Amino acid sequence: MEPHPKTLSNTDFIERPDTLIRHGRTDDHDPKPLYCVWEITLKCYLGCRHCGSRAGAERNVELSTEECLDVVRQLEDLGIREVTLIGGEAYLREDWDQIAAEITRRGMACTMTTGGRALGEDRLLRAIDAGITSISVSIDGLSRTHELQRGAPNSWEDAMKSCERIAASPIRLTTNTQVNRMSLPEIPALAQMLVDTGSQAWQIQITVPMGRGADRPQMLLQPYDLLDFFPLLAWVKNERLTPNGVRLFPGNNVGYFGPYESMLRYGGQLGSHWSGCGAGKSCIGIESDGKIKGCPSLPSDQYTGGYTNQDVITDVVMEAPEVNHIRLRTNDDLWGFCKTCYYSDVCRAGCTWTSHCTLGRSGNNPYCIHRALVYEEQGKHEHLIQLQSAPGQPFDHGVFTTELRDIQDDEREMTILGHTLADMAQLDWRANSIWTEEELRAFIKRAPRLYDITGSN
Ligand code: SF4
Ligand code: SF4
Repeated sequence: MEPHPKTLSNTDFIERPDTLIRHGRTDDHDPKPLYCVWEITLKCYLGCRHCGSRAGAERNVELSTEECLDVVRQLEDLGIREVTLIGGEAYLREDWDQIAAEITRRGMACTMTTGGRALGEDRLLRAIDAGITSISVSIDGLSRTHELQRGAPNSWEDAMKSCERIAASPIRLTTNTQVNRMSLPEIPALAQMLVDTGSQAWQIQITVPMGRGADRPQMLLQPYDLLDFFPLLAWVKNERLTPNGVRLFPGNNVGYFGPYESMLRYGGQLGSHWSGCGAGKSCIGIESDGKIKGCPSLPSDQYTGGYTNQDVITDVVMEAPEVNHIRLRTNDDLWGFCKTCYYSDVCRAGCTWTSHCTLGRSGNNPYCIHRALVYEEQGKHEHLIQLQSAPGQPFDHGVFTTELRDIQDDEREMTILGHTLADMAQLDWRANSIWTEEELRAFIKRAPRLYDITGSN
């Protein structure tokens, strides 16, 4: 199938990251979202311990094929340039490649994110025929770490086989990783694995306490872990990724500013920096029952502006307060440290999803390297403490608070959760894990339910 002239090629992406569709900039008052992430089913073969949507069974009602094809038409009307199909596991819908083919037929790029559990030769050929240009496989650690996190035996081997198949096909292989206390010290080994398997780009994202992730607070990074995470990431990029042609894309919640901003953000494009949450401004999200949100990750209850089979997507994006209040946010809507921050005018408290799911509302974001550095200067570390459990629904969250504590002497050592850079640099990616099974099981153990401070439980 010939690529549509509006669709950027892989070469464009690799050689000119500034052309990456999903990083297009638009005006707060005249938004033109270019990128859509679309969960086409909630059905999934895996049971990931960090899954925000608690995927597994499909939703009671999911959009029909006809309704999906109408969504594609509406996305073209809105001016969307790239659609990423996700799940659950997108290819568990029978008509997934029909939807993908309609996206490319209408001139939009179509990409897919997958756990790679059952992406065999057959499905890959269907993806090629549909015109999918890029598939991102989720790898959340070395084999034992990945499998305990993904809740499925052999899921590492399956994902690796999928990576090899994609790398050998015309479709571009990319990878994505959840960064949490389980995977963080395995980042250098994972980087080498990506080089060896032919991944062209790597997106990393901090695990957010949403869905099943909210049930396991011990798995989450503490805000002060960013003080170790950022230098490690810079080392990995310089030593392992860039020399081997793998581009690094820290996700929107790997924030913000500080000494590594320009080097790490948007593939290291010269002078690039974070410019605020793009929900409803540069991107939108759709759920498998048709919910329309400014970003697919946002909690559904508070951020759904309408339904694709009842409303016009363009109208929802332009007018629904659940969507457009994010791009119209001002400094008056910020609180806590973020309200006082030097970067607040540009940053506006970073990722809405992350701040809402940690502190219960947007406008104050503890996962920020600038903030962690300011507190470190004052001899403090900021700790996250869970106050309230999540109720157990897709895209739900608990509530945390933060507490500043004096930095202890043993916390000043340059280690990542007790592992030295030398240990991590020597770890072979074919090893099972940097952790013992017992240590990993402690991370994924469900936390006891906590008192609900709202009294609604
Ligand atoms: S402290 Fe808040 S406003 Fe400042 S850079 Fe960090 S997230 Fe952005
Ligand atoms: S909520 Fe976070 S992930 Fe979603 S668009 Fe905003 S910054 Fe990006």
